[in-house]
Amino acid sequence: LLYNKVQDLKGTIRVFCRVRPFLPGQVDAHSTVDYIGENGNIMIVNPHKHGKDARKVFTFNKVFGANVTQQQVFADTEPLIRSVLDGYNVCIFAYGQTGSGKTYTMNGPDLTTEETWGVNYRALNDLFEISNSRLDFIRYEVSVQMIEIYNEQVRDLLVSDGTNRRYPLPIVTRNTSISHTFTFFILFNFHWSISKSDVVRHFCLTICTLDIWSISQPNGLNVPDASLVPVKCTQDVLDLMLIGQKNRAVGATALNERSSRSHSVLAVHVHGKELVSGSILRGCLHLVDLAGSERVDKSEAVGERLKEAQHINRSLSALGDVISSLAQKNKHIPYRNSKLTQVLQDSLGGQAKTLMFVHINPEVSSFGETISTLKFAERVG
Ligand code: ADP
Ligand code: MG
Repeated sequence: LLYNKVQDLKGTIRVFCRVRPFLPGQVDAHSTVDYIGENGNIMIVNPHKHGKDARKVFTFNKVFGANVTQQQVFADTEPLIRSVLDGYNVCIFAYGQTGSGKTYTMNGPDLTTEETWGVNYRALNDLFEISNSRLDFIRYEVSVQMIEIYNEQVRDLLVSDGTNRRYPLPIVTRNTSISHTFTFFILFNFHWSISKSDVVRHFCLTICTLDIWSISQPNGLNVPDASLVPVKCTQDVLDLMLIGQKNRAVGATALNERSSRSHSVLAVHVHGKELVSGSILRGCLHLVDLAGSERVDKSEAVGERLKEAQHINRSLSALGDVISSLAQKNKHIPYRNSKLTQVLQDSLGGQAKTLMFVHINPEVSSFGETISTLKFAERVG
């Protein structure tokens, strides 16, 4: 593409670390973050040790300290948004323990103040701005889906009346469909030539047709049954977010704060048509606020809580496995181990670009979680 500038950072997977400030009223005398260096270094100090052994340095593509604004965080994310309009698939994740600032980064604390808008709104805003600046060459259409993955079940968050006709929603993974089609195509030809049996022939033909039908679903969406809503401006997106947030609350069970136990996924589908050549370009942006990564004490968690914790642990480690196998350029990428990685399959790997924001809570009491968050981040980076 003419307007596709050579991309910034090397590689397709990048990891940014963000440190949450101490909240008003908290004593910030003790922080586990000792220092943040220029080159993406962060030094963590173990509050229970002394001397050299107490300090450990982790390195990422970038580290944002507690004073960095939403706008500064987004400035480094922006090149990825441009890629979506050039036809790339992009995934942006927020990872970290509950209370470390994931939702702050993605949504912001408050939708009504533009200054504190998170990555989600800024990204959509940017998409509209860039697509308007290209109106002379390309016409873009943007539509969004918003889903939640809770206990390995996918739920639509954009149903207007809060009901879910189909729950849990099925996931379609395109590669498997293609391979089914291929298999049946071979079988079909094989039987056609040797068996001459009408029944077999008919059977193969039906499966083939079904398979071809399933891969030719509009847009090739991975969750085709989730509401797909066209959006024209940032205000449309803000309106949808409010519906999504309300639906999320409706589904919340008992006293549990649902948002920390489920993954929320905002999928932005971009469809562009070049005016001169008529060629079509597709890009997809997934913005994911992950479930809290904290380890739950197995001796304390029972019933629902234990089930939730097991689902979260499994899906977060499945995500880590997928991203690190992509980083190592492995042949086999284990997408099938969780619903999360299945939903995101097309947006992870291949030509896709991934950005992981890992969040740190600087409090001494969070030291253990901080270390396991940073280890997770090092593994995927
Ligand atoms: P999580 O989604 O990871 O559970 P939140 O985003 O809800 O965490 O953040 C927890 C609290 O910390 C909220 O009150 C939020 O407003 C505040 N917070 C998080 N990050 C920042 C930040 N960078 N600046 C100011 N306040 C923040
Ligand atoms: Mg949150």
